[in-house]
Amino acid sequence: MDLQTPIKDGDRLFKMYSRRLEKLGIKTFLDLLYHVPFRYDDYSMVSEIGEVQPGETVTVRGKVSEISNSYTRAYRTIQKAKVEDQTGQIEVVWFNQPFILKTLKKGDKVSLSGKVDLSKGRKVLISPEYEIDNGDLIHTGRLVPVYPQTYGVSSKWLRRQIYKLLSENILEDFLPKDLKANNKLLDLPKAIYKIHFPESLDEAKIAKKRLSFDEFFLLHLSSLKRKREWQGKLKGKKLTVFPEKINKFIKSLPFELTSSQKKSLSEILSDLEKETPMNRLLQGDVGSGKTVVSAITMYLANLNGFQSILMAPTEILANQHYQTISNLLSPFGLKIGLQTGSEKTKGDFDVIVGTHAILFEKTKLEKLGLVVIDEQQRFGVEQRSMLRGKGKNPHLLTMTATPIPRTVALIIYGDLDLSVLSDMPKGRKEIKTWLVPPVKRINAYRWIEEKLKETKSQAFIICPFIEESENLATVKAATKEFERLRKEVFPNLRLGLLHGRMKAKEKEKVLENFRKEKINILVATPVVEVGIDFPNATIILIEASERFGLAQLHQLRGRVGRGEKQSYCLLFTESDSPQTIQRLKSMEKIQVGAQLAELDLKLRGPGEIYGTAQHGIPQLKVASFSDFDLIEKTKKEAEKIIEDLDKFELLSKKISELNTTQVSPD
Ligand code: ADP
Ligand code: MG
Repeated sequence: MDLQTPIKDGDRLFKMYSRRLEKLGIKTFLDLLYHVPFRYDDYSMVSEIGEVQPGETVTVRGKVSEISNSYTRAYRTIQKAKVEDQTGQIEVVWFNQPFILKTLKKGDKVSLSGKVDLSKGRKVLISPEYEIDNGDLIHTGRLVPVYPQTYGVSSKWLRRQIYKLLSENILEDFLPKDLKANNKLLDLPKAIYKIHFPESLDEAKIAKKRLSFDEFFLLHLSSLKRKREWQGKLKGKKLTVFPEKINKFIKSLPFELTSSQKKSLSEILSDLEKETPMNRLLQGDVGSGKTVVSAITMYLANLNGFQSILMAPTEILANQHYQTISNLLSPFGLKIGLQTGSEKTKGDFDVIVGTHAILFEKTKLEKLGLVVIDEQQRFGVEQRSMLRGKGKNPHLLTMTATPIPRTVALIIYGDLDLSVLSDMPKGRKEIKTWLVPPVKRINAYRWIEEKLKETKSQAFIICPFIEESENLATVKAATKEFERLRKEVFPNLRLGLLHGRMKAKEKEKVLENFRKEKINILVATPVVEVGIDFPNATIILIEASERFGLAQLHQLRGRVGRGEKQSYCLLFTESDSPQTIQRLKSMEKIQVGAQLAELDLKLRGPGEIYGTAQHGIPQLKVASFSDFDLIEKTKKEAEKIIEDLDKFELLSKKISELNTTQVSPD
């Protein structure tokens, strides 16, 4: 059998279990081997029955001398047994597990692990783990692996299947010998065996070290490989920089570029002058001014006779970009088109602004020279390469406001060049942020009402999202909250509602009304998270803020503070966990997105940093993004080997498999 075989193509048992296993992310037999335990139960103390003491967690091995099933009130069942060895006898009970009698019969040798209790003066094991004792113990008598499980797939089942699969010995090691020796790594089959069935916690740790090494090493290698392939495509479009025209454009702006905008721009321009198509990520906090940098880049493409595409993740954002880009570039004679799911302007354009609907247009743009992707973490690798295919290797500029710790960026953007907008435009004020305790809720509402009147500004109220995607429950909750706020809390103000299930036209209408200040408070689900620009909005209230990562809260907070007026962010939570309170309080002190992301990485781990709505961050099985040393070490090793990758057959095969399965979003 091949470990790449999908579970659903396995034997009858696996066919039956394939749907359930998929819920655990297990699609192939290889995935099953990599389904690693999150802890071990220590049942390694084996004791003679006569010796066990109440309160101890022990393993005893003996013969079943009695076993029976009886009924109790309310049709519940109880299974009672007696087990003996040369030193004594112990009673055992289980509840509602009548099937045990099918496995354990009188006279069987059995091994039992659990806690010893005292009942009516007699020692008894209550609901212990059990298995027939044929010498090979996997559920008792050792460090027993405990797995992430799901309905119908118990740790016990997983343990048995993994053990069986391991005994087939079909795992091959893909790491070169020298590399293993230099880094003191276990062989792969041994590491996988020991992560499941270690003799000691130390052994588990050594196994984990090897598997963590692999995870980072393979990620680095595959992004290096992508980078090389990108650079190998020489047929890019060399652009000429027209310094005078570019400078004239920059002078026409109502502000001066920040020094990091200037630096990023010069990095971009020098990419464009090369044969190799640009593949650059522009990272900058919300409000740092990425759009204008991309506009200048698109202008340059136009000066060279090329078209550009600007792609945004939502229609709202696409519409907004369309306005901004039109304002910036139309005066210089560029024709700007809009193309979203619900709208399509006709004609020939120099710049097309749109959503991913652009991807599904059949037209190939002959003169496409530049693709700009905003909030790129929402696009998968595959969509990105679809875009590239639209033209002949256009230059690619991706932009993100997601604050990413440097080491994580090393992993996930290894194939991109990076420019960072590290300073904010002049005159930006800090957004005053408070965590508001529940008792002050009413006061907070009154404060908002007064503040809005006093400063003639507007507010967002962000309802919690209930589920990952914007489903009906979330929408219903938001609608209910909207009605409550409108009728009971702010009867004197005009409120609007915005959620992801509304039609694009409806959304636009609401946003239009908000922009025209016909609405004072916009109640919204977290769809407003990315990129909306309303300079007159100065207050944002976020409900159930504990459900968000700090970086995400920071992005939400960035919806305000875009104009001259002082802005405020009010965080609500019903949680009373001291850790949560402390975590949220850090929003009061820290205003830099990257710092918040680092902090979240430390406090909650990478799975949580970016919330649930964003994609592109690989799910690590064993390794941890906070293991900075390992990330750097594996990067060096990957750089050493990339030139010779083809010489290592198993390793290159592994990388190709990774690259085909990694494509993720939705
Ligand atoms: P983001 O990086 O979040 O996409 P935007 O590009 O939307 O930020 O810019 C936010 C606001 O800042 C816009 O209104 C933009 O016109 C303005 N802006 C951009 N650069 C500067 C600058 N150098 N000085 C002052 N304002 C700027
Ligand atoms: Mg933006």
